[in-house]
Amino acid sequence: MIPDFALVRPRTVDDALEAMAHGGVPYCGGTELLAAMQLGMLAPDVLVDLKRLDALSGIALDGDRLVVGATTRHVDIASSDLVSSDAPILATACRALGNQRVRATGSIAGNLCFAEPRSDVAAALTALDAEVVLLSSARGERAVAVAEFLEGALTTVREDDELLVRVHVPRATGPQVYLRFQPAEYPTVSVAAVVRPSRPDPVGIVVGAVGERPYVTWVASPGAVDADAVASQADVIEDLGGAEDYKRHLVGVFVRRAVAELTRRLAGGGRDA
Ligand SMILES: Cc1cc2nc3c(=O)[nH]c(=O)nc-3n(C[C@H](O)[C@H](O)[C@H](O)COP(=O)(O)OP(=O)(O)OC[C@H]3O[C@@H](n4cnc5c(N)ncnc54)[C@H](O)[C@@H]3O)c2cc1C
Repeated sequence: MIPDFALVRPRTVDDALEAMAHGGVPYCGGTELLAAMQLGMLAPDVLVDLKRLDALSGIALDGDRLVVGATTRHVDIASSDLVSSDAPILATACRALGNQRVRATGSIAGNLCFAEPRSDVAAALTALDAEVVLLSSARGERAVAVAEFLEGALTTVREDDELLVRVHVPRATGPQVYLRFQPAEYPTVSVAAVVRPSRPDPVGIVVGAVGERPYVTWVASPGAVDADAVASQADVIEDLGGAEDYKRHLVGVFVRRAVAELTRRLAGGGRDA
């Protein structure tokens, strides 16, 4: 049974922030929050439903970045032409994650704020150098890189009164690859490989799902990626998804595959994602 709670359905972002300033807990799809309440892990007195806030939804182009509203659902990101052309691995991640029900109800902000260690969204957005924008009625807005937003398993730097309002995703300036191994509901390992020419070391490798948060390394070229070193250095948690050795082996395999695919695309072959 879900414990009793009061429900606030704000019509404006200001009203949502006001409810949160008084202890209200925001939710969108409820795929994580309501499950956690059902399991007795959380028992908020007041829930703040974000679903009717049109200002928090949608995907738009703004100069050299995409702006993705907090309540935008995985299914809408997966089918967005803008995301497919300008941040293809985010579309790939949202197309593959969970199941149809989760993709049709879960939101990008809910995914990031819950900070599930096996998040595909977190791994893809970390590789894309994305940032989240947090808003509170007391302190206004602040932008935080996704890599710094995620502190550990189920932990972020978000304060209780802060609403994640949007995600800024730099537009692709080089090829991107996203691979994942998913024998069950969540991936056991995911690997993103990207090229961002604006960085001093332009080739990024991000390993997701195996540790508490994505592992990131930037190197000079695809040839400089040492898959064995990544596999031994990545933070790995042993759990029902597999033993540590098994997961490190998978990391090595998937990093090699991702780098091979990235190299192929740099040479002019294949499509992104
Ligand atoms: C069966 C299953 C399989 C899944 N598989 C995958 C997978 O393979 N890959 C993957 O990446 N994910 C997976 N997920 C996770 C899924 O992506 C998330 O459950 C979903 O995105 C959460 O979004 P939501 O809107 O439902 O969040 P909610 O449950 O509504 O909220 C989650 C948390 O975020 C907070 N929150 C929500 N919105 C905001 C906001 N705007 N500002 C501040 N805080 C906010 C809530 O307070 C709560 O703590 C899976 C989930 C399930 C249930």
